[in-house]
Amino acid sequence: MTDTPTHCPYCALQCGMTLGGASAAPGPGRRRRPALRVTPREDVPANQGGLCQKGWTSAELLTVPDRLTTPLMRARRGAPLEPCAWDRALDRIAAEVRRLRDAHGHDAVAVFGGGGLTNEKAYQVGKFARIALRTSQIDYNGRFCMSSAAAAVGRAFGLDRGLPGPITDLARADAILLAGGNVAETMPPFMRHVSAMRSAGGAFVVVDPRRTATARQADLHLQPAPGTDLALANGMLHLALTEGLVDEEYIAARTSGFAAVRTVVNAYWPARVERITGVPVPHMREAVRLLARGRRSYVLTARGAEQHARGVDTVTAFINLALALGLPGREGAGYGCLTGQGNGQGGREHGQKADQLPGYRGIDDPAARAHVAGVWGVDPAVLPGPGRSAYELLSALGAADGPKMLLLFGSNPVVSAPRSAAVEERLDALDFLVAADFVLSETAARADVVLPTAQWAEESGTMTNLEGRVLRRRRAVPPPPGVRTDLEIIAALARRLDAPGAWSADPAEVFDELRAASAGGPADYSGITYERIEREGGVFWPCPSPDHPGTPRPFLDRFATPDGRARFIPVEHTGAAEDVDAEYPVRLTTGRVLAQYQSGAQTRRVRPLAEAAPEPFVEIHPDLAGRLGIDDGADVRVTSRRGAATVRARLTDEIRHDTVFMPFHWAGEGRANLLTNPALDPVSRMPEFKVCAVRLEPVAAS
Ligand code: SF4
Repeated sequence: MTDTPTHCPYCALQCGMTLGGASAAPGPGRRRRPALRVTPREDVPANQGGLCQKGWTSAELLTVPDRLTTPLMRARRGAPLEPCAWDRALDRIAAEVRRLRDAHGHDAVAVFGGGGLTNEKAYQVGKFARIALRTSQIDYNGRFCMSSAAAAVGRAFGLDRGLPGPITDLARADAILLAGGNVAETMPPFMRHVSAMRSAGGAFVVVDPRRTATARQADLHLQPAPGTDLALANGMLHLALTEGLVDEEYIAARTSGFAAVRTVVNAYWPARVERITGVPVPHMREAVRLLARGRRSYVLTARGAEQHARGVDTVTAFINLALALGLPGREGAGYGCLTGQGNGQGGREHGQKADQLPGYRGIDDPAARAHVAGVWGVDPAVLPGPGRSAYELLSALGAADGPKMLLLFGSNPVVSAPRSAAVEERLDALDFLVAADFVLSETAARADVVLPTAQWAEESGTMTNLEGRVLRRRRAVPPPPGVRTDLEIIAALARRLDAPGAWSADPAEVFDELRAASAGGPADYSGITYERIEREGGVFWPCPSPDHPGTPRPFLDRFATPDGRARFIPVEHTGAAEDVDAEYPVRLTTGRVLAQYQSGAQTRRVRPLAEAAPEPFVEIHPDLAGRLGIDDGADVRVTSRRGAATVRARLTDEIRHDTVFMPFHWAGEGRANLLTNPALDPVSRMPEFKVCAVRLEPVAAS
């Protein structure tokens, strides 16, 4: 086979790699011969020749031993999943859609998508829901990822796009403040850009309750209590004001609303913020001085700042800080969100969200509805209105007024959703569950029909990385016999349901339709073609015409608000939705580890990754463990108001005394999301994954 340039199947950095013929010998740490040879690409700016352990072993995902290659179906609830023919599986799904729709209306059938789907699949999943099923009940797992940052950026700048410019701009920064991101583990090649900045004299400031691998490389680490980031950002802005570091000229020229923010942050005097957050005042002051020493600094947030019941306001507080220092809208500076999932950016632009149509258009907007309906060849009145957000949708499954059937694409909510035992109950309350996946994930294992899908290197499409750069994912090998692509599955179901419009299974044709649907919208892809991406190595959106150069830095001249100014929005600290008390005296925060990705459905099956990170654990400070009688390596029961998990104790002084940490990648009794709090942000509907109250007890050895 010839070498195929493509991108990693996992995170939003979308590292470039070349897939070549089978290795001559097993690579380091591998027991089995991988199907393809992975070579990192030097020409891709995001990774510049680097890959992490997940990327190096990504070809092994194509040869996992329990790969699904035939549809599975239950004869009835409680019966085992049995192999069946594609036509039988698809006919049964279509029959169930009709039966439940006739009995309960269009919203009886729901769709749940994924932030790892290509742009083409995300678009087609949304279109399928709106005009083949005519359901409003569609959302996706990206709601659990970056929705708070998306909402905060939208209301501050008028347009939600991950980084404010090409990733290589970071190397020239005076300083980067990263709040709530452990990039040294989640996307290690990102650290190349940070290292380049530090080598040139820039400063790296990390905000995290844990001294993570990323924090250990920082020039300054602020270690606030979980749930207090908003107070910290307001306190830093207070210090910027009292030290005369705000950029008054910029504020007057490019923003609105600062007076109200100034009034609010006046009350965040340093000693008060230190009491709330636990961060010493000198550290806060030093962080502000580092950020303000030039005008080429970045304030970046990731899940740690965003996955809160006040996540939108927390991100807003960091945006306010960035605006006060005059950073957004300047070349080589600004605020940015580090998207997590592989297509976390594109996945939210093309219609998978409950309230959006393709092109990042609001589903309530009559002009947007008319435009998209025209592309789809239907009357705008046919399009449903907004539906439920992800957790609300999952919580309504099987309820009297909720969906009776769910079709899942590229998602594993049994592991990734908060309060996941309740989600399992709701899935089991459905009349019919369909999962399209390439392995029997924990969620697919509960389905009535499982459809085996192609995976990353077996199909073509586009992904939009954390920079807002649209990239080509290329097919390197054919899918195994018996497997179909998501686009083929959607087209086959749409035909069976007599859906109006065209239903191509060809990614290039679907992309052309996506371009037309996005034209004129905030996320305008109409000028981007596969040929341009090939030629230019990627194109930044918005790109409204074939001769438009794309938009690497969208806010240099004006923000995307009606008056062109960025909006300051005053926000107040209220704390976490659930506080500690005598019964649940310890804060739990959750996150990720280097060798696993999201729900682990993929990476737990790749042997080197499973060996590197084989089981869940809880990080506990030795002082706290000593008080509780917990030894390093012992089993611990962690209990919250929603459930209990049993995991291995890992003692470390790199976490606060009052906080414990659990990664969420595993299923079973060590599942972190058995514990997490589904309190939702009022704007983004993001659950509060990052903090809840727990108690810990040693589990007596039997
Ligand atoms: Fe893949 Fe992300 Fe690792 Fe790059 S950093 S190799 S995109 S998982």
